[in-house]
Formats: sequence, structure tokens, C-alpha cells
Amino acid sequence: MKKSKKSALQETGGISISEITSTNSIEKLKKKRNAKIDTESLITSILNKDITALSRAITLVESKNPKHLKKANIIIKGCLPHANKSIRIGITGVPGVGKSTFIETFGKYLTNLGKRVAVLAIDPSSSITKGSILGDKTRMEALVQDENAYIRPSASGDTLGGVARKTRETITLCESAGFDVIIIETVGVGQSETTVHSMVDFFLLLKLAGAGDELQGIKRGIIEMADAIAINKADGDNLKAANLAKTEFTRALHLYPAKDSNWQPKVTICSAVENNGIDTIWGIISDYIETTTKNKHFSVKRNEQNKYWLIQTIEEKLKSNFFNQSKIKCELKKQLELIENNKTTPFAAADFLLNL
Ligand code: GDP
Repeated sequence: MKKSKKSALQETGGISISEITSTNSIEKLKKKRNAKIDTESLITSILNKDITALSRAITLVESKNPKHLKKANIIIKGCLPHANKSIRIGITGVPGVGKSTFIETFGKYLTNLGKRVAVLAIDPSSSITKGSILGDKTRMEALVQDENAYIRPSASGDTLGGVARKTRETITLCESAGFDVIIIETVGVGQSETTVHSMVDFFLLLKLAGAGDELQGIKRGIIEMADAIAINKADGDNLKAANLAKTEFTRALHLYPAKDSNWQPKVTICSAVENNGIDTIWGIISDYIETTTKNKHFSVKRNEQNKYWLIQTIEEKLKSNFFNQSKIKCELKKQLELIENNKTTPFAAADFLLNL
């Protein structure tokens, strides 16, 4: 009787507990090893310029699943020593200015020069509107088919900080996959231009001739961030107005204080549709890289950006860790009700929640 009890406890379908335990640990070990092989082979494939592997890694970076994020972190760590070698260009301008047409023409121009070009986007509105920039594959059709170009739609996310982190990590992955030019497009929603500006080497503002800043929805401060302004659609009847706008902007830019980089922002005209002035813009960017590499501003700026992103990431993580705690969620609701009924002050409520 005793024996049978013992055997009922110890045996399951003829396998002893110790065997089950060891089978479980073997399974665990296998899983662990597979995960390692998985991330290691992804890193190797990315370094071998395998686009499918690159896309898989970016999907891990964009995932909300903590297991995926863990894997993503391992991959990024493995890729980091191979990153940092591209030219990062931010492009902004109001909807309709011709950003995607420009990026397609510019991207083709660069791939014809033998460069490999990755196009990313920061569109914090995409999670709300569900329509993201670059999401529509019919845009940039020629560039999509170019084997030296890689186009990734904007990551969706609840916060600009979240989207920004994913984009920063995607830049690292693209650089390790051998892309020499990374273009990051944004529309002027919220703080998105500032965010893009803080992760690129060169910031290009596309504008239209003949419309005031207010009409073009250009926010104050954007002009100051620009390393170059290109008046697009400088073709047909618009050419004269574009040249006039160029003169006006050149004059206006001289009124801004000199930049730390010692770089005097340039103004030029272009036609993305007619493929005019694109080479001039690349010339300006190349000049910028040369000037700022010589005066060391290029690496100083990247260092500053890294420090900035360290602080941003900590802030973002602290915030989401805090708000995601179930206790905080519950107590926050109560405190909000108390505020509504004038039974506490925002500061007392904040203190209370932070001390929980
Ligand atoms: P985005 O919203 O800034 O991405 O702008 P799009 O690239 O979608 O362009 C908006 C419209 O402007 C489209 O109809 C384009 O064909 C047109 N467009 C873009 N670039 C040029 C250009 O250089 N010249 C002219 N005439 N039209 C352009």
C-alpha cells in the first residue's frame, strides 16, 4: 500500500520525478540555447546585410512583449559595435510639401551613387489615426523596389518617447546592416521635429514658395533647427517664386545667431518631381559633414545626443514603470476623484502617489 502510494507520487506514465525534472531542465536549457542561437544568428545575418533578418529584429524592437524586448536588447548590444557609421538625415515639412516625392528622388540619387539608403519615419499621430507616414506602400514605389533601399513605416506607440526609442534602436540596426545613409521623415506633429532633430546629424526643412510660415504650419524654432532649407516644387510657373523665396530665406537666416557647429545654414531650391537641385542638396550635406568632421562638431553632437537619449530613456522608463503599477492605477483613480471634489490638491495627491 505504502509502496503503491509512493509510486503514484513518484511516477507519471512510467517516468520518475527526477526524470521529469531533468527533462524539464533539458527543455529549458534547449529553449535557452535556441533563443541564444536565434539572436546570434539574427545578429550575424544583419551584419551580412540580410534584410529579412533586419526586419525581424526591428519587429522585436517594436514589440510590446517583454520577451521580445529582451531579445531585441541582446541583438542591439551585438550590433552596436558595427553601428554609428552612417549619415543620419532628418527631413521635415508640412503635408503636401513633397516629402515622400523628395525622399524617393533623393533616395534614388543616392543609390545611384552606390549608397545604401534606409528610410524611417517618426509619426506620433499614426497610433491615433492608424494611417502612418510611409505606411502606404504606393508611396516611393521606385525606391521600394530598389535593392539598395530599405523603407520602414513609422513605429506606432502611445507616446512620442516610445516611438523615438524604437526609431533610435532601428537606426542602430540599419547601420549595422550596412546602410550608409539613414533618412528620417517626420510631419510637424507635437514635438516630433525636435525628436527627429535630436537623433540626426543633418536636419533638412522642405518648404514651399509663396506661402507664409503660418500658412505652412511652420512652428517657431523649426527654422533655427534647420541645417538647410530647400524650397521644393521649384518648377514650371513656380520657379520664379521659388528663387524669390530663396533670397528671402537666405536674408532671414543671417539674422539668426551662429550655430555651435560654425555651420551657416544654406537655402536652395529643388524640384523633386523633375529631379532638379537634388545633387546640390547632397553637395550641401557633404559640405556639412566635411566641415563638422574637421571641427569635431560631428562627434561632439552625436555624443550630446547619446547623453540626451540616456536621460530621455530613463524618464520614459520611470514614467511607464510608475503608471503601469496596478496599485498606482487604482490609487490614481481615487486621487483624481478627490481632486474633482476639491478634497485634495494636485501636489498633495502627487506626493501621496509617489510615496506609495
Ligand atoms: P508629402 O505629404 O510632404 O509627403 O508630399 P507628397 O510627396 O505626397 O507630394 C504632395 C504633392 O505634391 C503630390 O501631388 C506630388 O506629386 C507633388 N509634388 C511633390 N514634389 C513636387 C515637385 O517638386 N514639383 C511639383 N510640381 N509637384 C510636386
